[in-house]
Amino acid sequence: MHLSRRVTITAFWTIAALSLGLAVLFASGWSSGTWLLDDAEAHYVLLSAAAAAACVSAAHRSSGAARVVWALLAASAFCNVLGDIGWIALGLLGIDPNVSAVDVVYLASYPLLLLALWRIARARDPRGGTDAIVDGLAVAAGLGLLAWQAIIVAPDALRGADGTLGLIVVVGYPLLDVFVVGALVALLLCSGARNASLVYLFAYVVLFLVADVIFAVASASDPLHPWTDPLYLAAYVALGAAALHRCAPHVADHQAVEPAGPGRFLLLGASVVSPSVTAAIAVSIGGGIDPIPLLVVSMALAAVVTFRVASTMSAERIARRRAEGVQLALERLALEDQLTGLPNRHALIEQLSTLPASAGVALLFIDLDRFKVINDTAGHQVGDEVLRQVAVRIAESLRDDDTVFRLAGDEFVALCADRAAPGEAEQVAQRIIDCVAPPFVVDGLEWYLGASVGVSTSDPGEPIEPDQLLRDADVAMYDAKREGRRTVRRYDRRMHERIDARHRLEGALRRAVAQDEIEPAFQAIVELGSQRIVGFETLARWPDGSGGHHPAQDFIELAEQTGLITAIDHQMLRRACRFVAAFNDRHLDAAPIWVSVNISTTELAAGDLAGRVGSVLLETGIDPSWLVLELTEGALTVDPDVAVRRLEEVHALGVRLAVDDFGTGFSSLEHLLRFPVEVLKIDRVFVAELARSTAGRSVAAAARQLAHTLGLQVIAEGVETAEQAEILVECGYELAQGYLFARPISASDAMRLGDLPALAGGGPT
Ligand code: C2E
Ligand code: CA
Ligand code: CA
Repeated sequence: MHLSRRVTITAFWTIAALSLGLAVLFASGWSSGTWLLDDAEAHYVLLSAAAAAACVSAAHRSSGAARVVWALLAASAFCNVLGDIGWIALGLLGIDPNVSAVDVVYLASYPLLLLALWRIARARDPRGGTDAIVDGLAVAAGLGLLAWQAIIVAPDALRGADGTLGLIVVVGYPLLDVFVVGALVALLLCSGARNASLVYLFAYVVLFLVADVIFAVASASDPLHPWTDPLYLAAYVALGAAALHRCAPHVADHQAVEPAGPGRFLLLGASVVSPSVTAAIAVSIGGGIDPIPLLVVSMALAAVVTFRVASTMSAERIARRRAEGVQLALERLALEDQLTGLPNRHALIEQLSTLPASAGVALLFIDLDRFKVINDTAGHQVGDEVLRQVAVRIAESLRDDDTVFRLAGDEFVALCADRAAPGEAEQVAQRIIDCVAPPFVVDGLEWYLGASVGVSTSDPGEPIEPDQLLRDADVAMYDAKREGRRTVRRYDRRMHERIDARHRLEGALRRAVAQDEIEPAFQAIVELGSQRIVGFETLARWPDGSGGHHPAQDFIELAEQTGLITAIDHQMLRRACRFVAAFNDRHLDAAPIWVSVNISTTELAAGDLAGRVGSVLLETGIDPSWLVLELTEGALTVDPDVAVRRLEEVHALGVRLAVDDFGTGFSSLEHLLRFPVEVLKIDRVFVAELARSTAGRSVAAAARQLAHTLGLQVIAEGVETAEQAEILVECGYELAQGYLFARPISASDAMRLGDLPALAGGGPT
């Protein structure tokens, strides 16, 4: 504790103990000292001044409303100090201080005290405080009328008063006391936690009131009642205790207040009947009653009650409206997806459960293809924006009666009522697939997406089972994804079996990748004229345990969907580099060959391709020009800017890039030129066309012409017949790959294949 504060407190309690002790001594008649002490005057002034000083110190320590409160209480106490000094001065001058100018000074302390109490009530509960003050005033009005009746009207009470001053004194004290009672009631009604300082303050007010009442009653017979002095002094002690308490700065702190209970209205009711009670007493005692105050007080009380009832009702109305608003907002939140503003899964289940069974419904489960790539390459903000645009497009592609929901991530569901007819839901699904096909533009960049849609329906008259319907649509969607993207599938029971099989396969693939069981096969790429091997393509092989292997197309797609592809590509890359190093070591007399490795779209989008390739080059020590990376056109349409940057990093290592399956994607040659590509692999569907039609032949010739103009090397894929090879030579092709020359074979077989000066025909797979 601060030293000066400790001194203040000690000083105050010393003065308090001394003054109170003396007052009790005199009151009990034990001692009578000099006139100064006998009338208990000097210590009276000392204690009231000490209490006032304590209030000043409290004001000093406080801020805001509490500061005002303590300043007002200090001022009120100083009025009493001044009054006490005046009282002593008049006594010294030999004038009777009873009913004198001193009383005016004393009376001035009451409004200040009232103001302080009013300020506390308002500050503790800004809203309810007003009501409490109104209720306190009602009590004061009722008691005031009683006091008025007793003092003014009852002839006995006014007997002692002479002149205006006498009237002021006789009327002023009781009336102001009545208002202090009202203020006290108001403060007590402002519930909330009361700290010690406030409790002492209550004690001060109550002691003062009691002393005033005893003084007033006693002064009629014996003006100097011995026990009033100790009471007033005790009141000052309480005031000082309140001001010096460490909670003093918090007397007017805002409180969490419970709404007024029925007790408040009981109090108001009692106030309303008090004029009648006063009148009844007055009439029965026979003194009669002054009608004007009776009327004024009754009307005032009626007004108070009306005001209170109206304000309570409006407060309740406001509270109810607010609660309803909150309820609505909560319901909306629970049923709405925050990102897109579309209704969410809860809303879907709710709507499905409330649909009448008679309505046949179709549920379209929509999952975006390649959305993860956007999220991974461009970040969540771009992903979110794309999702918002997707939501708008899907909503616009539906009828007014149909609703689209967002379940989570890139999953949406369209609910179509009356669309159970065969083919109808598929039409809607196709419209959805078409609407997400055009690129999404975010910050000037184009993003390509697709959608796979699963359909489940419930026939009219059949009961709708929301969870089942949703699960079926989900299963159908998985099947659509498996079928190849951008497709629609309608649910049928066998899909579950397929999904189970897929889960089993996924587990097995995961184990195979972990145990390094995926083996590379190498397929030769030859020079058409000489049949000399110039390179090999690395193709992943997953042995099925019975001598054969799982179809690459299937497990590669599964690996892409599960993210396992990154590990597979990396393993193939390392094995291919080791293979080409060994191959060129073994055939030092021939020109070095190269090896190509397939890189998945996911890898390009998410992985650190250049880093990985760089470290494998370092590890195996091969010449970077011996490595070719094959990418499909799809990889280049993800985010062209990101793709260009990633590929340039790889290209800077000295590694060459090839576009795989050229002609089956959407990109133009012009688009391809943005990338550091050096090799084009013409897809085998074109090669298959060669011998069948002249059109096929002219397309192949034009592609080769264009590629050469652009300085690209071309490889024809899937050459199976000698006729195809001949036509390719005629069209100017130099390099080819296909079963005609060699099937994909193991590393050791491929190594021996290199020992031959030239290839004659396809070997075993
Ligand atoms: P792709 O890159 O177009 O690979 C060529 C595919 O055509 C291989 O199928 C190959 O066995 C087959 N093929 C070669 N010559 C002929 C022919 O004369 N006639 C016919 N009909 N087919 C021929 P495979 O090995 O089943 O691979 C399928 C696809 O799987 C590959 O197509 C490639 O996209 C992907 N893939 C294979 N291995 C990997 C890998 O390690 N990583 C990645 N990311 N993808 C791979
Ligand atoms: Ca390939
Ligand atoms: Ca290919």
